[in-house]
Amino acid sequence: MHADIATSHGSEGEELGRIIDGSAIARRIRDKLAVEVAGLAREGIVPGLAVILVGEDPAGAVYVASKERACIEAGMNGITIRLPATTTQAELLTHVRALNDDSAVHGILVQMPLPKQIDPDTVIRAIDPMKDVDGFHPINVGKLLIGEEDGFAPCTPAGVQELLIQSGVNTLGKDIVLIGRSNIVGKPMAALLLQDHLGANATVTICHRYTRDLPSHTRRADILIAAAGRPKLVTADMVKPGVVIIDVGINRVSDPSAPKGYRLVGDVDFDNVRPLASQITPVPKGVGPMTIAMLLKNTVRAATMRAARSAGRSAAATRQPA
Ligand code: NAD
Repeated sequence: MHADIATSHGSEGEELGRIIDGSAIARRIRDKLAVEVAGLAREGIVPGLAVILVGEDPAGAVYVASKERACIEAGMNGITIRLPATTTQAELLTHVRALNDDSAVHGILVQMPLPKQIDPDTVIRAIDPMKDVDGFHPINVGKLLIGEEDGFAPCTPAGVQELLIQSGVNTLGKDIVLIGRSNIVGKPMAALLLQDHLGANATVTICHRYTRDLPSHTRRADILIAAAGRPKLVTADMVKPGVVIIDVGINRVSDPSAPKGYRLVGDVDFDNVRPLASQITPVPKGVGPMTIAMLLKNTVRAATMRAARSAGRSAAATRQPA
């Protein structure tokens, strides 16, 4: 049986969409990467990821700490540079350039959002594209769009594609509807799904805040990917039976019974949509864990590609003239 029609049963006997377990899939990717990293270590290569955090944003600090832990757990070097909120753009650019020149660093990530005195586009453009493991540099954005595979795809959409592949969801020729057109999720997601490639070859529709009659689009979707940042935007009347739902949204909603007074939900009305879906990601533990797994994967790729370039250069240098 193909996985995209698999369902499970709820306590009342009703069919429920199978949960796509992002945590388990991300775990498997990270375990495989740890084996690859151990192999690189035998050749004297330790992939290194440098993360720059400017300011005291608590959510940013949590993400950065988890990225550092994930690197160390995989046997990689995780370096975090914490700068004060008063850092100037020139100071930040000096740090970025130093990391560009540091041969122990294979991947560089500047945590967003940045304080308002710093222009994020200038910072992204200053990162060496071959160390841009977030995939936001225009060179990597362009490579993604034209289907050149030696660039880096942004981690969240790359993680969504990997979830679809690992869950046995066939995307070829399918109608995939995206909600959200940001440069971080929606646009690169569309570019990935359009390629002539495994986990792609789809017919893609991108919806956004000015889309007229959103439900008329979402109801056509074989696969619906929501990345709007709006809790319960996708309701049961907006999907067709058998749809695969990927919920990228992370929204805080107040919940006095939760220890922190809030809980995290996605963009999809999970309880009411799940019975209609063949497969669905939960929030949390759906797309979220994949983002870090793909960041590590991009960093290991950056290290491997650099080693291949250096091997090519030294082979060329030792070649005798004919
Ligand atoms: P964004 O605010 O930059 O973009 C939101 C997009 O949704 C916009 O393109 C907007 O036009 C569209 N939109 C908003 N309301 C809409 C509506 N009512 N109908 C149709 N379209 C609408 O956000 P983003 O950075 O792309 O993130 C989107 C969501 O994904 C957020 O909740 C964010 O927290 C989450 N996110 C999760 C991860 C992860 O690792 N799981 C990573 C990045 C972002």
